Amino acid sequence: MRWPREFLLKQSVLLVDQLRKHENWNKQTQKRLRNTEGITAVGSNEADCAQISADTEVDRISIECSTQIILKIHAALELISVDLKQKPKGNHYYGLCLSDGCESAICTKRLTAIPWADLCLRCQDQNEKTNQLNKRFSHKERRIVNSRSVAPGTRT
Ligand SMILES: [Zn+2]
Repeated sequence: MRWPREFLLKQSVLLVDQLRKHENWNKQTQKRLRNTEGITAVGSNEADCAQISADTEVDRISIECSTQIILKIHAALELISVDLKQKPKGNHYYGLCLSDGCESAICTKRLTAIPWADLCLRCQDQNEKTNQLNKRFSHKERRIVNSRSVAPGTRT
């Protein structure tokens, strides 16, 4: 399946716009992170430190997420530029689900909402379910570890 040229052009405009937003946002968050790390190093009271470290953690996760998105945007733009130049070769073109053995085309509605989407809705759902299971598992693990009176890893 190939996308109409107009659709690819429209998507690349969206992608470039999002890329700029995410890059700016990433830069700002990194700057803030550097500043707060400086404050923690200087030292303040315990409650402030806890708040700062929570904020820092959120910033770190946000940077990780937006870095992932930036990478996906670059990959999508690359695919679009190849698709615009030539007929897509084999099974690698913009809007194709990257999940192993899936090879469905991602629907237009999803691509319009998330132009860097690289998984179809079904695979994305599957992915999120797996992630949630992992999260729940590690949460339970942590609780077990915390409830033990001995250090985790110690054989009793
Ligand atoms: Zn898929």
